[in-house]
This record gives sequence, structure tokens and C-alpha cells, in this order.
Amino acid sequence: MSAPAPEPLFRRVALIGIGLIGSSLSHAMRRAGLAGEIVGHARTRTTRDKAVELGLIARAFANPAEAVKDADLVVFCTPIGAYAEIGQVIGPALKPGAIVTDVGSVKQAVIRDLGPVLPEGVHLVPGHPIAGTEHSGPESGFAELFDGRWTVLTPPPGTDEAAVEKVAELWRRCGSQVEIMEPAHHDMVLAITSHLPHLIAYTIVGTATDLEDSLKREVIKFSASGFRDFTRIAASDPVMWRDVFLNNREAVLEILGRFSEDLSALQRAIRWGEGDKLEDLFTRTRAIRRGIIEAKQA
Ligand code: NAP
Repeated sequence: MSAPAPEPLFRRVALIGIGLIGSSLSHAMRRAGLAGEIVGHARTRTTRDKAVELGLIARAFANPAEAVKDADLVVFCTPIGAYAEIGQVIGPALKPGAIVTDVGSVKQAVIRDLGPVLPEGVHLVPGHPIAGTEHSGPESGFAELFDGRWTVLTPPPGTDEAAVEKVAELWRRCGSQVEIMEPAHHDMVLAITSHLPHLIAYTIVGTATDLEDSLKREVIKFSASGFRDFTRIAASDPVMWRDVFLNNREAVLEILGRFSEDLSALQRAIRWGEGDKLEDLFTRTRAIRRGIIEAKQA
């Protein structure tokens, strides 16, 4: 006789938002048998029906308060701008001892928005899987999204350690490596590694969009020369990214200030024909790429 299946990590998990990240998390949790039952809430009927049809959730609820009833783990997977309102609605329905976590790309704002609306005895363990694609919606998810990637947890001071460890274990069993970080540090690191690159990509593609027609046609035709890679990033979900910039304003403005200075320095080097300055920078940046490949994050 085979051994009985091990107890799932969580008896009931409620996903709030079932797009790329929510659906990938469902796939990864089911791959590892981490949840007895996964239920969910999304804003539109279309997404809720699709999520049930795809087997991502067993049951869908139009009201998030009903979705979280009796859940041991609640995972926010919506754009960050929606957290505060949903948090207020679900707060009274959460069971004592429940863990609330999230996948949002900014962390201080999550603590600001969810901290005050969660009742005493509910544990808030904010998280951010550093993994994604430019696709959205419940059909875009896949179990392997988090494999070998990092997930950062940013528990506020005084958070229950057992709750933090349980969320860390969830991500490890979803294939991810886990790091604990100060929320402000996370927001600064991500401002440079993710938010600024997206802003630059949106800008470059925006500049191309405003070109006169004849030039625009050539941009598409010859896009393999570099532009193409920016268009992939600039195809990311507009609402999600709007919320990232509005909610990580200070860190992004700080990094953007430094970037603008560096860009001006490059502009000057080109104007004055200072090839050694250009070559020196391009040599140093090449080493960063090698480091990413060696860290298996390419
Ligand atoms: P997504 O594919 O666009 O999915 C968003 C989900 O949230 C959908 O199910 C959507 O439902 C739901 N939703 C949106 N507004 C809502 C509201 N007001 N109330 C209830 N549900 C709402 O987005 P995603 O890429 O999975 O991103 C989700 C979160 O993950 C974001 O906070 C983002 O910062 C974070 N994240 C994203 C990536 C990435 O690469 N995409 C990577 C790491 C972290 P409807 O379809 O019904 O509107």
C-alpha cells in the first residue's frame, strides 16, 4: 500500500485576483499539493468563470469577503491600487490566525494599505515573486514561472515568525528561492532592477509611436536591431504598471534622477567625441550581464 498523501501546507487558500501571477501560483501550488482547496475572487465574471473552467480555483466568488471566509491563506494578486478597498471589504471576514500575503511589485505601499485594515490576530506577510512575463489574465499562467527565481518577503517588524516561515515554505515548494528584506530596501532595489527599465521601455516605444508614419514603418521592419526587446517589456499590463509607479514614487524618482544625470553625461561624451568614456562604460556593463548569466537569472 502506498503512503498516505502528506498534509497540504494550507487547508484553504483564497486567491484575490487570478491573472498571470494568481494563475501561476495556482498551477505551482497544485503541482506541489500545497492546498486542500483553492478558491478565488476576480473583478469580472469572465475571469471568474475562466478560472473555474481552467481548474485554477474550485469555486469563484463575486464578493471577496465570501472568498476569504475560512481561508488559512489569502493571497492578493491584483494590481496594487485595488488592495486598500478589497482589504477593507475582507477584513471583518478573515478568520483569526489567517495569513494574508501578496505578490505586488511594491512593498511599503502594501503595508501602508493593508496593515491598518486587517484585524488583530491576522498575520500580514507581504511578498513579491521576482518572476513574470508581459502576458496577463488567467490563461497566461504556468507552474514553472517561479522555478529558480527569487521571492522577496518583507514582513513588518513584529510579524509572527511562524507565519513568515509558512509563506517562505509555500514559495520554496513553488520552486522559488526566498529572501527576507526590509520593505524600503526592496522598493529601492526593484526601482532600479525593474521599475526604471519598464519606464525606459515605455518611453522608447512611446517615442517611436510618435514618429511620422514613414519612419514608424521602418522601426517595425528593422526592430530586431534592439527595439524589439523594449517592445516586449512595454507590452506589460498598463494598469499594473500605472499602480507600480504611483505606489513607488519616491524610490523611482530617486533612481530616475541618477539615471538622468548618467544619460546627460553620455550625451555629453557623444557630443564631444569622448570614445574612451563610452567604451569604459560599455565594458563595465558587459560584466553585469555575465554576472546575471552566472547567477542563472538570465
Ligand atoms: P493580471 O494578469 O492583469 O491579473 C490581475 C488580476 O486582478 C485579474 O484577475 C483581475 O481580474 C484582478 N483585478 C484587477 N483589478 C481588480 C479589482 N479592483 N478587484 C478585484 N480583482 C481585480 O496581473 P498580474 O500580472 O497577475 O499582476 C498581479 C500582481 O502581481 C500585481 O500587483 C503586480 O505588481 C504583481 N506582479 C506582476 C508581475 C508580472 O510580471 N506581471 C511579476 C511580479 C509581481 P479581472 O480580469 O476580472 O479584471
